[in-house]
Amino acid sequence: MMKQIIHHFNNSKNILLAAHVDPDGDSVGSLTALGLSLESLGKKITLYSESAIPAVYRFLPASDRIVRTINGLNGCDVAVILDCSNIDRVGKAASTIKQIPEIINIDHHTTNTNFGTIQLIDTWACATAEIVYRIIKNIGVRITKAIATSIYTGILTDTGSFRFSNTNESAFAICKEMVEYGVDPSYVAEHVYGPFSLGRLKLLNRALDSLEISATGKLSIMTLTRDVFEKTNTHPEDTDGFLNYARNIKDIKVAALIQHQLNGNRTEEPVSENCYHVSLRSDGTVDVAAIASAFGGGGHRNAAGFSTELTISEIKSKLLKLAETI
Ligand code: AMP
Ligand code: MN
Ligand code: MN
Repeated sequence: MMKQIIHHFNNSKNILLAAHVDPDGDSVGSLTALGLSLESLGKKITLYSESAIPAVYRFLPASDRIVRTINGLNGCDVAVILDCSNIDRVGKAASTIKQIPEIINIDHHTTNTNFGTIQLIDTWACATAEIVYRIIKNIGVRITKAIATSIYTGILTDTGSFRFSNTNESAFAICKEMVEYGVDPSYVAEHVYGPFSLGRLKLLNRALDSLEISATGKLSIMTLTRDVFEKTNTHPEDTDGFLNYARNIKDIKVAALIQHQLNGNRTEEPVSENCYHVSLRSDGTVDVAAIASAFGGGGHRNAAGFSTELTISEIKSKLLKLAETI
């Protein structure tokens, strides 16, 4: 697979790279790392993300070159889909992208559907950025500080700063190497985890206030509706990390956060008036990817999510019913 991918990259001229909607550090970092690498080989690249890039990742090199719309195929001969368990995770452009002759699926989700013409899926990789690193090494790109910063950020954020169960030996080995290429860990941490708005703290307050625990004591549910985001002047991306509090409560096995889906940017029309995004985190004893899949979503064993048009009370009652079995 690696050989085939490198062959396609070498023979292509015009490559579209895409991240998933509501991108996280891994999908933005993988996008900019691979994009800059392919550009250094003389390829024309288009970096695509339907949702706005969260403010905390805008320090990433080339993140200002990420476009939110594509007009037709523009002569692209290869598409690279990063960190997406299915192709629809790229958003509305999926139907256009599907027409690109070669679609390379690079991912680490257990629920990946094997879409595309070539797949490089490693569910043991700590992040998609780890797989991107291997490609870059194999293709013989010179790793610049900009590329290194992108890879480092992808691994740092997807491993929860080397705390989650996907933290493997390569996470440390690759990050060590990226520091040798000039990455400044404190600079990255300042941006990713650095100062945040008062509104975000108020949003956290509202999220914690909304916390409910199932009768079994094993499931916690937090809920954030659109009006709360409006009142606190915050965005969906501001909820990043909130679930860690709920998951760390003693005896909790699964933590859920239900939030109005606002398409990553509060100034835009919501995807649909009553669409919710549900994030799930597990303590390691429950496979939340399986739960998310049952709702049409996906993810990893310990971190998964889905979007739904069910009402809040329907979502809650379904989750509570599930809680009786965990
Ligand atoms: P989140 O719900 O955004 O906290 O995401 C947790 C994990 O689940 C990430 O690895 C996402 O890529 C994945 N995920 C979230 N929503 C979906 C979805 N609708 N379909 C497939 N995977 C998802
Ligand atoms: Mn991701
Ligand atoms: Mn990832």
